[in-house]
Amino acid sequence: MIFSKKKEVFDPYTVEQCTSCNAMTKRKFKDGDFMFKILEKCSKCSGTVMITKIFGELI
Ligand SMILES: [Zn+2]
Repeated sequence: MIFSKKKEVFDPYTVEQCTSCNAMTKRKFKDGDFMFKILEKCSKCSGTVMITKIFGELI
């Protein structure tokens, strides 16, 4: 088996969204993140914030 010399590195991002006011925050992916994970309360409206999207960018 021949390994490619080209190294593909993903730079994953997590999008958090408040279910009440729809405020969205894009940040770097952290270990333990998964889709629809409930996060801390929204800083603006105290609504529930959850992860709505996780995506990776090829760098
Ligand atoms: Zn909110």
